[in-house]
Amino acid sequence: MKSSVSYIGRFAPSPTGPLHIGSLVAAMASYLDAKVHHGQWLVRIEDVDGDRNVAGADQHILASLQRCGMHWDGDVSWQSQRTGLYEQALRQLGELIYPCGCSRKEIADSQLSLTGRQAQALIYPGTCRHGLAPGKSARALRLKVPQSPHCVLHFDDRWAGHVSQDLTDDVGDFVVKRADGFWAYQLAVVVDDGDQGVTDIVRGADLLDSTPRQLYLQQVLKLPQPAYLHVPVVVNELGEKLSKQTGAQAFDHGADPQQLLQDALLPAARFLGMDVRADSIAAFWQAAVPAWAQVLRNLPNPG
Ligand code: GLU
Repeated sequence: MKSSVSYIGRFAPSPTGPLHIGSLVAAMASYLDAKVHHGQWLVRIEDVDGDRNVAGADQHILASLQRCGMHWDGDVSWQSQRTGLYEQALRQLGELIYPCGCSRKEIADSQLSLTGRQAQALIYPGTCRHGLAPGKSARALRLKVPQSPHCVLHFDDRWAGHVSQDLTDDVGDFVVKRADGFWAYQLAVVVDDGDQGVTDIVRGADLLDSTPRQLYLQQVLKLPQPAYLHVPVVVNELGEKLSKQTGAQAFDHGADPQQLLQDALLPAARFLGMDVRADSIAAFWQAAVPAWAQVLRNLPNPG
């Protein structure tokens, strides 16, 4: 376990809707992990994707965190106010970046011969790597991924165990600035985690697949690699990750503390494998910290 001052964790919600049981699970796990390690817990609103932001969702999420008794360290940050850092990173990436004129449809069409997992992931075939084809104009900016030898990345996730991905085969050159002008999540998250000194990332397993892209970006930007812990995601009865679009119920903002405890905190704790009994929110957190430490003891890489 790391010493007190060396742990900085964070919860980084996208303001696409209110907090629900799925996002509460990620918030709770990151919060408890910071508490168990006597570290800091930051909150960063990931509002770079202007198309998906919902007005007021950021304040709603922050109010819900507070009502649930999760208090962050320092000031909340908003990615939309940090774009100068992403510009700077882009300059640092220099010749590894190139403009791409391909549409999603063209990339998908280039993969019709691929099967299974490869076909699902929309792997970029490198069409614009050596210059835009005549008649094409720049849409997105992509980062070159080494071709030879292949760029294979490995890491030990504290929950999921050993993970490896061949970025060259499974992803290809990926977008760091989107055709619509918004910064890509992959770049923004790496720059922010690096800038904020985040040492430990605890988040949902839906981002396990993104992690190798983030490791590669950390390497080329010369940023330290944080430790990772990806918790299982809550799914609906169709097996889809819970989100506003897949039917997640937001917390009732006016809910009394007992209702929050019964309907949100205790179910989220059970989902994370914690045996917590409590009759108040304060008692809940008192019991949840040692319960999370117990969960950690059973993981492949307790950290
Ligand atoms: N903003 C992402 C989300 O809400 C989480 C990003 C992260 O934790 O790296 O799904």
